[in-house]
Amino acid sequence: MPNLNRKIDKSINSHPDFPVIDAHVHLYPDAIAAKVTPSLAQRFGNAPSFDGTVAGCRAKNAACGITASLNLPVATKPDSVGHTNAFWAQYAKGPDIFSFACFHPQIEDKGGEIEKIASLGFSGVKLHPEYQLFRFNDSCMDDAWAAMSEFGLVVYLHAGGERVFSPPFHSSPSEIATLHKRFPKLKIAAAHLGGFGMWDEAEEVLAGEDVFLDLSHTFFWMPHGQILRMIRKHGAHRILFGTDAPWQDPGQVLEAFLALPLSEAERRAICGGNFEELIS
Ligand SMILES: [Zn+2]
Repeated sequence: MPNLNRKIDKSINSHPDFPVIDAHVHLYPDAIAAKVTPSLAQRFGNAPSFDGTVAGCRAKNAACGITASLNLPVATKPDSVGHTNAFWAQYAKGPDIFSFACFHPQIEDKGGEIEKIASLGFSGVKLHPEYQLFRFNDSCMDDAWAAMSEFGLVVYLHAGGERVFSPPFHSSPSEIATLHKRFPKLKIAAAHLGGFGMWDEAEEVLAGEDVFLDLSHTFFWMPHGQILRMIRKHGAHRILFGTDAPWQDPGQVLEAFLALPLSEAERRAICGGNFEELIS
């Protein structure tokens, strides 16, 4: 019976019969989404796959066969961190919409802010070096990395190039490898398979390292053969399914992912098992 359902669903979309967590989405509180989503759509040059709200994400997920999503909020200035995290704390533990906290490198009391984020119940923090103008190994970040390691918080890093910014970029796969060496207890998740547009470097210096890499903005942007090779080289147990929704269509990304010749065990791990491990 499940196989039959799967066949019928496939004509509309691929609905796997195991949980699928989209570990990389960008959501906005309703009032902000109405303004931010259209302006970002113009900036990115592509229409969003939904309106950027929690309700929009839930509806899209239901249509695509996605069980839950992880929101990664980005603070563009230090004084927006407090109220943004106060809002997203209600989603810190899921169950269908999870949220990490935002953080900003210009916060003075980094250890204190990380402690506050941990006490709000978040499992991790998102950082974006292009919007936040810093490098992972700047000495000003050392207190933050140490505090995240101490509280067991994941750091979810934007990695590599970025569609709407120009080079030189503020991060690279090599810098992530260096950060991992400097703070081996820090739980790192790097987006875009370790470096958008820098995949040969990521394959060389990050594949096989004890960091999580996500699949957002890799399908349709790089050779799918290289995605498969990197998954195998890195180990499927450290790969996260992610889509960057609403800026990619999660249904299309899931369909492309399911088309890769992976085993059922690898698919289950990438789609959900590894996320459980990430936030544990
Ligand atoms: Zn993103």
